[in-house]
Amino acid sequence: MVTVAKKNVDLNFQDVLPAVRGRYSFGTLLSGLTWFQVGGPAEVLYKPEDVSDLQYFLKNKPSDLSYFLLGAGSNVLVRDGGYDGVVIKLGRGFSEITVQDNELVVGAASLDRTVAMFAMQHGMSGVEFLVTIPGSIGGAVAMNAGCYEFEVKDVLSWVEIVDDQGMLHKLFPHELNMSYRKSVLPIGCVIVRAAFKVTEGDAVGIQHNIQRYLQLREESQPTKGRTGGSTFKNPDHAKAWELIDKAGCRGMEIGAAKMSDKHCNFMLNTGGATADELERLGELVRQKVKKISEKELEWEIIRIGRAA
Ligand SMILES: Cc1cc2nc3c(=O)[nH]c(=O)nc-3n(C[C@H](O)[C@H](O)[C@H](O)COP(=O)(O)OP(=O)(O)OC[C@H]3O[C@@H](n4cnc5c(N)ncnc54)[C@H](O)[C@@H]3O)c2cc1C
Repeated sequence: MVTVAKKNVDLNFQDVLPAVRGRYSFGTLLSGLTWFQVGGPAEVLYKPEDVSDLQYFLKNKPSDLSYFLLGAGSNVLVRDGGYDGVVIKLGRGFSEITVQDNELVVGAASLDRTVAMFAMQHGMSGVEFLVTIPGSIGGAVAMNAGCYEFEVKDVLSWVEIVDDQGMLHKLFPHELNMSYRKSVLPIGCVIVRAAFKVTEGDAVGIQHNIQRYLQLREESQPTKGRTGGSTFKNPDHAKAWELIDKAGCRGMEIGAAKMSDKHCNFMLNTGGATADELERLGELVRQKVKKISEKELEWEIIRIGRAA
């Protein structure tokens, strides 16, 4: 029986979930929705039709419902037992991209790469770095994603969020306390749109930047692997990959989980790994790094769900 997470364990989900226009599905495997391609099922997967449908859901959901917003799943490790509650996944109704004055206004489900390419095609500069980040705009804002010396916070104008009671708000970067791979968002909120500052640029220059970033990425990272990107954040005054390398963890394996040979802060599912193998490998790396350096590596990858 499908049940509401935590407290209402005897309630049937179908009886208590709001009658939305979007789609519910039950028991969908989340491995198909994450880059690692591991993880058990979501009790409920909810795909809202549009912003007002999402607002209706959040306003009328049971008050003790657990829910999680999954973007493109490029920074998430879902455990093998799956997620007890509702996983919300934004889709087509959240993917519009428009130009308004000097801002690119983007639905949260748009992929970072699509946004960078859109800007390039419209002769707009400022968001080229997004081309190599394989997530969605919602995930990019939530994680303050960045690379090649740019971060989302450098170019963000504002975001629109729906709070856990279904109310729509516009927030500005100073209200999000954005720092290295982190934004402080109201608990339970869903980012639905974001606007980025862009300037008119020279098409050749923009194209050149994009090509350069793509090439740099290809040279240094296993871009086609089943991975979650950087496993750990860089500690203050240190690089996670250097610590991992020094601790002898480059290429280390547990089952089919492996620390990449090419970029040793990337963890890989080399084929058939479980979330448990990946998580145990990450914890082992943390222990080994602590032993040689006294530094505590902090997971950058978001881990959700329960063990099998
Ligand atoms: C090959 C590879 C390379 C990578 N390179 C980089 C890099 O260079 N720089 C970098 O910063 N990251 C990198 N990453 C990590 C990842 O791509 C980014 O963190 C990305 O921004 C995550 O976006 P996502 O849509 O996949 O979010 P998910 O992984 O699905 O979720 C990440 C977090 O964001 C939250 N979230 C997602 N969407 C929303 C929303 N609409 N509203 C509220 N919360 C939301 C989720 O709840 C979760 O907490 C890489 C990953 C891979 C696989």
